[in-house]
Amino acid sequence: MSTYAEFYRRSIDDRDAFWAEQARLIDWKQAPRTICDNSKPPFTRWFAGGTTNLCHNAVDRHLQTRPDQPALIYVSTETGAERTYSFRELHGEVQRAAAALQGLGVKKGDRVLIYMPMIAEAAFAMLACARIGAIHSVVFGGFASVSLASRIEDATPKVIVSADAGSRGGKVVPYKPLLDEAIRLSSHKPQSVLMVDRGLAPMESVTGRDHDWAALTGKHKDAQVDCEWLDSTDISYTIYTSGTTGRPKGVQRDVGGYAVALAASMKHIFLGEPGETYFSTSDIGWVVGHSYIIYGPLIAGMATIMYEGLPIRPDAGIWWSLVEKYKVTSMFSAPTAVRVLKKHDPAFLKKYDLSSLKALSLAGEPLDEPTAQWISDGLGRPIIDNYWQTESGWPILALANGVEKQRSKFGSPGLPMYGYDIRLVHESTGAELTAPGEKGVVVIEGPTPPGFMQTVWGDDQRYVDTYWHTVPGRTVYSTFDWGIRDKDGYFFILGRTDDVINVAGHRLGTREIEESISSHPNVAEVAVVGVADSLKGQVAMAFVVPRDAAGLTDTASRLKLEGDIMKVVDEQLGAVARPSRVHFVNLLPKTRSGKLLRRAIQAVAEGRDAGDLTTIEDPSALQQIRDLMAP
Ligand code: ATP
Ligand code: MG
Repeated sequence: MSTYAEFYRRSIDDRDAFWAEQARLIDWKQAPRTICDNSKPPFTRWFAGGTTNLCHNAVDRHLQTRPDQPALIYVSTETGAERTYSFRELHGEVQRAAAALQGLGVKKGDRVLIYMPMIAEAAFAMLACARIGAIHSVVFGGFASVSLASRIEDATPKVIVSADAGSRGGKVVPYKPLLDEAIRLSSHKPQSVLMVDRGLAPMESVTGRDHDWAALTGKHKDAQVDCEWLDSTDISYTIYTSGTTGRPKGVQRDVGGYAVALAASMKHIFLGEPGETYFSTSDIGWVVGHSYIIYGPLIAGMATIMYEGLPIRPDAGIWWSLVEKYKVTSMFSAPTAVRVLKKHDPAFLKKYDLSSLKALSLAGEPLDEPTAQWISDGLGRPIIDNYWQTESGWPILALANGVEKQRSKFGSPGLPMYGYDIRLVHESTGAELTAPGEKGVVVIEGPTPPGFMQTVWGDDQRYVDTYWHTVPGRTVYSTFDWGIRDKDGYFFILGRTDDVINVAGHRLGTREIEESISSHPNVAEVAVVGVADSLKGQVAMAFVVPRDAAGLTDTASRLKLEGDIMKVVDEQLGAVARPSRVHFVNLLPKTRSGKLLRRAIQAVAEGRDAGDLTTIEDPSALQQIRDLMAP
């Protein structure tokens, strides 16, 4: 294969041969019979007839070749814990955890809900589930009782694995009372609860239901639990979307397709070689944590760093000190985290030896040019913006530098990844847009590639109704994102379809306006929403977190900055995009995964109810906006 263009074309035009080749990157107990079964669209079954196991591919497979090589590197700047597990040690831990779960009656197909901080036991629990064919449902440890309860209700787990507490910025956050409350709120009750006791917070135990992790795994010191050979199309896990646009969706994923997709992405996109070290700063509660803290790197035979702590504690150099210490070769993070670092001295980026680092991948939300430039200059390393969703499990748009070195363009997450037949369609007519620079909705032509969600957990109809939309002649998967493609085929994501503003007939992506506003030197962060306007239909309204708020105490200076920001937008985009108002806040409302809750801001700005707020990080951020809007 010489060029990426050829590689990509083959993945679409000669799909089965292409993916049959990729399937060889993992171990199968029984080889697949059918590569892609799309006989009942939109439900695609990958590698049917094949049997495999995610845990086997992530752990056991490496025992012959690299038993003593680091597999899991656990670092907590919250508790000071730091420990490296070799593949052999990881194998032992996972088998003990698997034996403990089996002891609690967990069998293939049973759900195990994992509500845990970033500790090694969380990884053991996930891999143990995968090993015995239990379906894990990891719920982000930052959620409180109500959000957790709705996920318990939906996943109906036989067992919940949790811990006494997490810790954030040195402050202990007890989990057990939240968990007990969530179980009380849920109509479904787990049979057993398995608690890791970190000695951080006292726990009240429910007799007969609660069990101690150390005691139970201790009973199975030399446990040997074989991998359950699963059908490729069996369910590996469920995970919820971030809830940025509404009620979170329970994404269900398979076994074989996911394993192949991750193995291929490690090779072609993330340039991960066995023996190297991967560091994803995400949390296991998100899809990035599943794919690129746990399964992807381990399947590739790499060591993976699991980090509990803030990016700025003890100081803003902590991540880079880990890169130096563990010779990290690939990193994965999110723009929101880089923006946090950006508020600190850039000298931290230069303090450590980063020569091992090949690239930093960023995903999760639009990467604005000033942020990309700042981190790229600071690290002197390529920054790979990549675009995907919980639903896809791995990048939809990125650069497959492992196939052919590609030029990156600021503001663009790159090209369609192999296996994804990406199109742009007109929002209302569904007609395909092919000319460079035309704006449309980013859709995927079925069949969806390996690793992609199978369905919405327990609700096939919701999967079809939510995601599959009729366009002339067929149905396509809608990403609900709005984008354009340039003449070289690079995509630019302009925001979500419901974030498009229509000002006097002009369609503007909120992202374009945010991008423009963030080029003002005193703007640290910005959210733009469309607000109903009797004259123009909609107008843009901006909420800005100033970099330096010291000089903004009086109305005159705020008006001056507001005027300056409007001027920037006028010059860059034209007066039509100029926000009607620029408000200053010290915090923007975000989801627990760091995404702007634009729909909530918009609702409040229009005087409506803010809607589902179960995933909000800090409700006071929305209160500030309510206060600003109060007449
Ligand atoms: P929900 O679907 O519940 O509303 P969500 O869409 O935020 O929440 P995720 O699956 O975590 O849930 O996020 C995927 C979305 O994040 C994408 O659809 C897109 O809007 C945005 N996104 C991810 N990566 C990028 C990127 N590199 N550039 C621009 N947007 C991105
Ligand atoms: Mg989404």
